[in-house]
Amino acid sequence: MRGEELVAFLHSDISGLSRGRSVPVTELDERFAAGVGWVPADQALTPFGPIAEPNPFGSLGDLRLLPDRESRVRVDLWDDASPLHFFLCDAVNTDGSPWDACPRTLLKGALSRLEEAGFSLVASFEQEFILEGLGAEPGPGFSLEAQRLVEPFGPLVMAALRQAGLEPEVFLPEYGEGQYEVPCAPVEGVSGADRAAAMREVVREVARRLGYRASFVPKADPEGVGNGVHIHLSLVDLEDRPVFYDPGRPGRLSTVGARFAAGILEHLPALCAFTAPSVVSYLRLVPHFWSAGFGCLGERNRETAIRIPPIVELSGGDPARQFNLEFRAADAAACPHLALAVLVLAGMRGLQDELPEPTLIEEDPTGLDEEERRRLGIRELPGSLYEALGALETDAVVRSWIPSDLWDCYLSVKRNEIDLLEGAEPGEACERYLRVY
Ligand code: GLU
Ligand code: MG
Repeated sequence: MRGEELVAFLHSDISGLSRGRSVPVTELDERFAAGVGWVPADQALTPFGPIAEPNPFGSLGDLRLLPDRESRVRVDLWDDASPLHFFLCDAVNTDGSPWDACPRTLLKGALSRLEEAGFSLVASFEQEFILEGLGAEPGPGFSLEAQRLVEPFGPLVMAALRQAGLEPEVFLPEYGEGQYEVPCAPVEGVSGADRAAAMREVVREVARRLGYRASFVPKADPEGVGNGVHIHLSLVDLEDRPVFYDPGRPGRLSTVGARFAAGILEHLPALCAFTAPSVVSYLRLVPHFWSAGFGCLGERNRETAIRIPPIVELSGGDPARQFNLEFRAADAAACPHLALAVLVLAGMRGLQDELPEPTLIEEDPTGLDEEERRRLGIRELPGSLYEALGALETDAVVRSWIPSDLWDCYLSVKRNEIDLLEGAEPGEACERYLRVY
């Protein structure tokens, strides 16, 4: 018995969680125009449940979740479960006008500003996750054992992501215990962030059907390997020509690419409050976890917040099209739309103000003394969510990008989140997030 097929209208909220409501598939056509009801204060939900106080909305107001047809996901692989069917939505006012505190709307605004400047964004999110419920021996890192132990998880997750239109590329057992990763192809525009949100839900569903639980928690335990979200970014011009690649320059990074990176690095401490926004994110963002130990740009260097990944000459593909910047200081506690919006806006700031190009860091910055780091422009990352929020509050440029209700709501949610974990040891904090993400 699969019952009536339901279609969920989902909103990727400021905690990176997909929340929403469902309608019968038979009524889908009528629902496209007006969506489903939603409540402003839902944006103030903390990841642990309670609604943050204060928040700009209180008990007042009503919204609609308006689906974007392009974001449709439908996965039908099981006889005993109804299809996983959903759309990602903008939260809008009841008259259809944009709602100021919607992250997806912020991203769309950032992308249209980028387009006015002559560029479109191409992005993909590499999202690591762990499977819980594997039994005592999860199999060695990267091993076929680790892959086959969870059979048929690999084939099913590939099939499900493909049905969902998310273009999965590779299935890999990762380094951590029970950790996996399935990169999906890059895509233009708001779909980059939609894919990230959708991928999490599809992976969770496949795990659920097999009796596992998939978690994208930034850190499942304080000493263990983190689950990163690496955001690959590149720009194309309005004729669809890639603009980050220049084989004649250091790191093959064009002036446009270098300035874009400079904008991100300039605002990095504040951006972390959006891209690595949990208390345990800062257990991950330390040197020697191959996450992002330092605020700098490096070529093929996994200790840098922005890495230039290799060009694979063997593939025969156009190097300019392969070339991108990988932002590594992100995790799945971030709303993908919010994270992508602030990265684009920071990159654009670098372009518009022609910020000086960052130095390419060739080594592990841990080996450098403070003086050398300063000379090379290597910055520390915030040491905690509290510090990141402090950096955010004092960054007037970043503040100018965020509508005031979204700003107030975000800071309140994050401060409440810190308070809700008061007194928790790192292990307990990881455990609390593990239950949510
Ligand atoms: N697990 C690492 C992180 O936390 C990433 C390892 C890799 O380079 O894939 O970001
Ligand atoms: Mg990885």
